[in-house]
Amino acid sequence: MLYKILKKENYTDFVEKLISEYEFIGPKKKDKVFHDFVPIKDLRELDTDYKKTTIAPAKKLLFPPTEELVEYEVGDVIKVKPLVESSEKILFGIDACDINGMNFMDWIFSTEFIDENYFAKRRKLIVIGKDREPSETCFALSMGAEYAKDGFDIFLTELEDRYFLRIATSKGNEITEKFARIQDATDSDFRDYDKFMDDYRSKFKLKINIDNFYDDFEFIYSNEKYWEEASKNCYSCGSCNLVCPTCFCFNVKDDMQLNLKVGNKMREWDSCMIPEYGLVAGGHNFRPTKENRLKQRYRCKLKTFVDKYGKYACVGCGRCIEACLAKINIVEDVNSVKKEVSA
Ligand code: SF4
Ligand code: SF4
Repeated sequence: MLYKILKKENYTDFVEKLISEYEFIGPKKKDKVFHDFVPIKDLRELDTDYKKTTIAPAKKLLFPPTEELVEYEVGDVIKVKPLVESSEKILFGIDACDINGMNFMDWIFSTEFIDENYFAKRRKLIVIGKDREPSETCFALSMGAEYAKDGFDIFLTELEDRYFLRIATSKGNEITEKFARIQDATDSDFRDYDKFMDDYRSKFKLKINIDNFYDDFEFIYSNEKYWEEASKNCYSCGSCNLVCPTCFCFNVKDDMQLNLKVGNKMREWDSCMIPEYGLVAGGHNFRPTKENRLKQRYRCKLKTFVDKYGKYACVGCGRCIEACLAKINIVEDVNSVKKEVSA
């Protein structure tokens, strides 16, 4: 890791050069509350002082909602052509929590198999992170995801009159050497950065009581009344999955042309909260009730991956809390498990 300083007077010049040299994706104001990560052509469109985005930017870019995987033609021989698309891009202004969400996806798509469609895009994505104020639903601090130690090329932390840069890759070094007027960070820069991080962490007000949840979950697992109450307002809409930066389930479908010769295989995001998710051929549904699906979602997020690989599948971004019209709240539910156990 290299530690450098970019003075504020040189920031605009740096970002303008990146916008003109690269396909540049950054946060743009969408309405009063939300921002969206979109292609930016002019610095005036970029607004890094955002609090909320609906869909995590890295998930949208690396694992799009729908994606063609292969094209095929059926004849005497079956011709199959993989469709793997990628181009170099900068993803600018993504925060630490979403970088950690992307790190989880990197790990998912490379641990039990290598997903070429994902990694073709990931290898060409230049990630320039930036700290941002936590929203009122963000509990990333409790999940240990408020700080990114890897997964980015450059990470900018805004101090009073300068940016403290952490440069994690040779690509990040190449970009800053070429486009930014930077200098080495001094002892006093490190001291100011340290103070900034203390202040930043103190802004996370929402806390989830995740300690011992791994064991406590078993206590509550078979308590039907508890799950009926927790899920009673659920519409089974799946929004909590779609907005989640670490939800990775997908369906693969065939899209065949009318000539029944040419078609493609397409993947699209799936959701474990919708009734069809557990439906199999023959009509049996492994998770027919919303109680069962909510229970499974929490188990997947907070226990299964801890069991298998020692990681939570939740970075505490709070998007599922924002997206749920039924006001089902992962923080309240986890904290209520703690209360049930201690009652
Ligand atoms: S928990 Fe909320 S967002 Fe998720 S499926 Fe139920 S109603 Fe939809
Ligand atoms: S489960 Fe909710 S809080 Fe956790 S990462 Fe997914 S959307 Fe964010």
